[in-house]
Amino acid sequence: MDQFSFFDLDDTPERVLDVIDIKDVNAPRISVVEGRATPDLDTYDDVIVAFSGGKDSVACVLDLLDRGVPRDRIELWHHDIDGHGEAAFFDWPVTPAYCDAFAAAFGLKIYHSWRVGGLKRELLKENDRLAPAAFETPNGIGTAGGTNGKISTRLRWPALGADLMTRWCSSVGKIDVFAAAIAGQPRLKGRRILVVTGERAQESPSRSKYATFETHRNHAPGPIARRTVHHWRPIHGWTEEQVWDIIARHRVNPHPCYHLGWSRASCQFCIFSGKSHLATLRQMVPDRFEEFAELERRFGHTIRRGVTIEQTADDGTAFDLDPGMVEVALSTDYNEPIVLNEWTLPKGAFGENAGPI
Ligand code: SF4
Repeated sequence: MDQFSFFDLDDTPERVLDVIDIKDVNAPRISVVEGRATPDLDTYDDVIVAFSGGKDSVACVLDLLDRGVPRDRIELWHHDIDGHGEAAFFDWPVTPAYCDAFAAAFGLKIYHSWRVGGLKRELLKENDRLAPAAFETPNGIGTAGGTNGKISTRLRWPALGADLMTRWCSSVGKIDVFAAAIAGQPRLKGRRILVVTGERAQESPSRSKYATFETHRNHAPGPIARRTVHHWRPIHGWTEEQVWDIIARHRVNPHPCYHLGWSRASCQFCIFSGKSHLATLRQMVPDRFEEFAELERRFGHTIRRGVTIEQTADDGTAFDLDPGMVEVALSTDYNEPIVLNEWTLPKGAFGENAGPI
């Protein structure tokens, strides 16, 4: 047995027996804690956290440290959504530097990965192939793909939905890049790998259906890759309050966007941005806002069906912004402390939930 997947175990205790096959060396060792699947963390060589720098991925890392996972077994993998070293288009300029500072403060390894040219290249793609995925490794930068794909034209925004085929930003910029980075590294052959991500059921009806533990798509136990890859969502059942509690206990300075009023640290120009986020962005980064508006006109296709980004912003009320924090969020360097002496809840906590569903 090498495929398994399950939800909260409260409702399906019998499935615990289904998934554990003691003759299968690749099978996970699972215990049930408060009704949820919890893998035996000692059985993995590498624990890879998909680390966005947002509160949920920070909570996952702090939870692993609280559980005693040795730091040298943890890797943070961050996706640079705009490509590596490219000008910010979708993302907060500070995000890669914030992630690096977090990793340094906690003595953890961090590796960046990206779609060459970022999401903007894919958005503007005309009669071309999907660009290669690129990923940092301990031995340099690896790449995968970009040579044999189908020639196609995009010139359309990602769809506002949960289907990753049409909401292509998540798959092109993150999920497929992550998969390429696992499959493309010989150092991961023969390893037992636990992939940790921070989706929570509370975020959306679609996320509430995600399994807390399952086989990862990169699971390849056959004789060539000899790679065991399981996927765990340790905070799937957590409330937002629990997330802020663990961040407060470790006194972690959250991503600057939370201080500005955002409740989720997704892309700065996330396609799911609400009207007040867009009203704020129009004031904060008018040139980039106009670039999005101009592309909507050029494509004849708007991010939200039937309404332009400008019309959406017109209906919102811009946040009252702290100019010093705007400067921090728009810089490509991050020089603020990661661990604070005195911790207070940021302005955006418990605010409007505007991010991927
Ligand atoms: S954060 Fe928003 S815009 Fe960015 S990849 Fe995810 S859904 Fe797309």
